[in-house]
Amino acid sequence: MTRHDLLEDIAFDMNSILIGDAHAPSVMVQAQRLVVKVGSSLVTNEGRGIDAQAIATWAAEIAALRDLGREIVVVSSGAVAEGMKRLSWVRRPQSMQDLQAAAAVGQMGLAQVYETEFRRFGLQTAQILLTHEDLADRTRYLNARSTLTRLIELGVIPIINENDTVVTDEIKVGDNDTLAALVTNLIEADALVILTDQAGLYTADPRSHPDARLLSRVKAGDPRLEAMAGGAGSLIGKGGMLTKVLAARRAASAGAHTIVASGRESKVLQRLAGGEMIGTSFIADTAKLTARKQWIADQLQLRGALVLDAGALKALLRDGKSLLPIGVSEVQGDFARGDVVACLSQAGAEVGRGLINYASSEARRIIGKPSSEIESLLGFVEEPELIHRSNLVITDPNDS
Ligand code: GLU
Repeated sequence: MTRHDLLEDIAFDMNSILIGDAHAPSVMVQAQRLVVKVGSSLVTNEGRGIDAQAIATWAAEIAALRDLGREIVVVSSGAVAEGMKRLSWVRRPQSMQDLQAAAAVGQMGLAQVYETEFRRFGLQTAQILLTHEDLADRTRYLNARSTLTRLIELGVIPIINENDTVVTDEIKVGDNDTLAALVTNLIEADALVILTDQAGLYTADPRSHPDARLLSRVKAGDPRLEAMAGGAGSLIGKGGMLTKVLAARRAASAGAHTIVASGRESKVLQRLAGGEMIGTSFIADTAKLTARKQWIADQLQLRGALVLDAGALKALLRDGKSLLPIGVSEVQGDFARGDVVACLSQAGAEVGRGLINYASSEARRIIGKPSSEIESLLGFVEEPELIHRSNLVITDPNDS
């Protein structure tokens, strides 16, 4: 099936993708704690330089929402784009050092404008730069959470970006849509609002398909959305519509709804908060994970994996059991006790992930064996399970 056929099918099936009453109020009416993400092309006026006017507009809106008792955290891109402008670089650099240098220069400008514009409305701001490593390490994750929570209590607006100056491929989140979803989950926000330079998610890319239709309300977990969102975004930012669809799915696993809307709509945040439907709402329709399981689910880079046999797959997916050594046929990677590892089907699809009770070298010696033999094989027993159910998250049962 070609991509074109797929899109035709989707267009045909559009009514099954839309959910709920088109006249229902926006999900933002109920949302007390919000993460608002603004993309590079909006923040830097398509690379022309930081758009202080636009930032002032969002500051005014955020101040109005705060007066209504809403709690707001901002995730802002734009450091690399602004750094390129300040360094007079026309093309986005390829090398890591150049990207890091541009981000370091541009982040100064971002912080300056956010601080100035939010102050006009009596709001204090705080700069927070995160890497994936900060969120992957349990202690640092909890620290980041308590700092953010404290800032919110103090009435300060945290302005978050990825710490692009120190990130390498191994430790980066990579795009701010994903970062915004991780922050949404970290602070258990009720909604994520992604402001972008497009009106929302269309049935196909509106730049090449003039008859594409804007989707108003969809299920965040609907797998068909990915095909519609395929394709790159603008030349300025990093994510396209696809990273937004995936971010919405990620936020939904923590129970948060996502709205993708144009940041150029006037008073977009206030109108959404007032109930108006603007852009595309991605409704969280899956069961909410506990905070610790959410942290496990949100790990982007795992140290290793376990390949499960058919019996273990059924035990995990259907019977809600723990993972025992006997059900594992292969250990991949190099990990320590307490790391998060993936559980793979024989075909290599991730079906779950969890905190492992044994290091990879130990796991390799006990797989395929009953738990009663662990002691004779290793000389000690940590636990009879490789991954206990309470430390296990099923990520995609449909992939098995
Ligand atoms: N952190 C990057 C920046 O500030 C943006 C990443 C993105 O656009 O998603 O330039």
